[in-house]
Amino acid sequence: MRKRLLSFLQRVYSDFLMPDRSEEYRRLVSTALRSGYQVVGVKEFHQMILHQPGDLPPLLILRHDIDTDPGYARVFWQIEKDLGVNSSFYFRQSTLDVDLMQEIELSGSEASYHYEELATLAKKHCLKSRERVLLYLGEARDLLRGNLGRLRTQTGLPMTTLAAHGDFVNRRLDMRNQELLADQEFRRELGVEYEVYDPGPENLEAARFSDAPYPHFWRPASPLHAIEAGLPVVYVLTHPRHWCSHVIPNLKDDANRFLEGVRYARCR
Ligand SMILES: [Zn+2]
Repeated sequence: MRKRLLSFLQRVYSDFLMPDRSEEYRRLVSTALRSGYQVVGVKEFHQMILHQPGDLPPLLILRHDIDTDPGYARVFWQIEKDLGVNSSFYFRQSTLDVDLMQEIELSGSEASYHYEELATLAKKHCLKSRERVLLYLGEARDLLRGNLGRLRTQTGLPMTTLAAHGDFVNRRLDMRNQELLADQEFRRELGVEYEVYDPGPENLEAARFSDAPYPHFWRPASPLHAIEAGLPVVYVLTHPRHWCSHVIPNLKDDANRFLEGVRYARCR
């Protein structure tokens, strides 16, 4: 009981009261630059492992999954512009900001799609087992094909790398959205060159870090230690909601998540 109350209070603090942490992000990237790291986005990283796998400089790879709050994507991007580095931003249908995406791409960084069509269909058709979801795989691929085509037309961006979103439904089903891109022919047809969860070359060991909610902030630990220790390839994934407490986007996301959870639990 006490543990649940503590976790509720931590969530309230994190969503609505936590001070902005953007200076910490700036420090992280600045430290990497001072330590001799080349800072790149996912697309550039993929090109490097394709063309010079045995000859990589020390690399910091920056990826932002914009699950909520596209306004904060602009904060990450501004810091990176100030420091003269590039990164990758992946936007969901619910967080699209076409102007910002075009500005990001024009600046040399990458803006693309954070797709979740498999989870979307599982919620729409009330699919509660892997076997049932597999029956809708064709429809999910059609949906992804349509959405990606529309986004490319709307933004004029190539979107050749994609990132799968992890929804609560994916966790319940133990089935990830990236299963949609397991079929190489479908992937070629879509013009997708790299999915962020594709395995890397066997001889390339990237130290991976993801931001996390207050009070931990990082999983499994702060990437700053890896950078200070000089690990050769450091991969950092961030999400806006762990860096600021913008009330409206967080409230909207909490309410949406709650309603979707109730609807999915009750549907038959
Ligand atoms: Zn996501």
